[in-house]
Amino acid sequence: MKDVLSAIQPTGDMHFGNYFGAVKNWVELQKKYECVFGVVDYHAITMPINYQKLRNNTWELIFNLIAVGIKPENIFIQSLVPEHTELAWILSCFTSYGQLTRMTQFKDKSAKSKEETKDSFVSAGLFNYPVLQAADILIYRPKFVPVGKDQEQHLELTRNIAQRFNNSVSKEYFRLPEALFTETPKIRSTADPAKKMSKSAGEKHYISVFAEENRIRKQVRSAVTDTGKNTEGQMSMGVENLFELLKATGKLKEYQSLINDYNSGNLKYVELKDAVADALIEISNDFKEKKTEILSNKKDIKNQIKQSSWEIRKIAQETIKNVKELTGLINVKF
Ligand code: ADP
Repeated sequence: MKDVLSAIQPTGDMHFGNYFGAVKNWVELQKKYECVFGVVDYHAITMPINYQKLRNNTWELIFNLIAVGIKPENIFIQSLVPEHTELAWILSCFTSYGQLTRMTQFKDKSAKSKEETKDSFVSAGLFNYPVLQAADILIYRPKFVPVGKDQEQHLELTRNIAQRFNNSVSKEYFRLPEALFTETPKIRSTADPAKKMSKSAGEKHYISVFAEENRIRKQVRSAVTDTGKNTEGQMSMGVENLFELLKATGKLKEYQSLINDYNSGNLKYVELKDAVADALIEISNDFKEKKTEILSNKKDIKNQIKQSSWEIRKIAQETIKNVKELTGLINVKF
């Protein structure tokens, strides 16, 4: 068993939504708990992607995770632990079809998939994704799952699946994992604050942690501040998001002073944007420096991650053995 499990998709760059919403917290949790962090490549193929790029994206994300402070021995690659998919099948038989149809991410992502491919095709993989995610979590029987607020519904489903499994086999086998939200549960897209910042939403909807300085500044400078739908006297979602970002960077003095300007009606958006851009660039520069070191040692790191995946797999194998035992499936000794 592990105390903490979380995961991230290798579908593109790590962005500040991922970092402040999840990964920054993972770095801290490693100090207190036994943690495992998955790079979930099976999830990446639920959407139409460029398959030639997937393998590189997976390694790139791993280098990025290490650069921001995740320990290599805590990282595994999902497709190197095939028990995840094996458990997903078993758990799908304990999953309510009706509940799966109500997943908001499925609705959002299937609409996006249709729009991108100009085709009505939506994969069953995308529909079943939350079951694989439940398997990713439950296979390590963790106590906590540190995720962004966008994953709340999926985690609730995971708990329902675990509960149904436990009831059906008359044993409290799976722990019901608890979500751990950060103080920054949701960062919005600066281009469209109605959306969350996300790799899956397209390039302009996320600010990459490792982007060039100029690009970060340009993206923050062009952040939408007025959506035209604001109620009188209420902070717009775009401005709120910029304040949220500034707070997340830890620049609390600047944050307080700009909030005071806002309250007294003296806030210049450009000052808020510059403060956000400066703070993000400072963090980014620090991580880029670490990444340069990592890139000079690529081969060793790849071997290390294959090894850690192998070590972490042992827990997954143990769970599968127990689950097969409990569900009447045939076990071969290993
Ligand atoms: P994406 O939505 O960009 O494809 P992932 O699904 O790989 O990101 O999510 C990785 C982690 O980052 C998850 O824990 C998720 O909750 C968190 N996360 C993703 N986007 C945001 C966001 N905009 N704000 C806060 N947390 C986020």
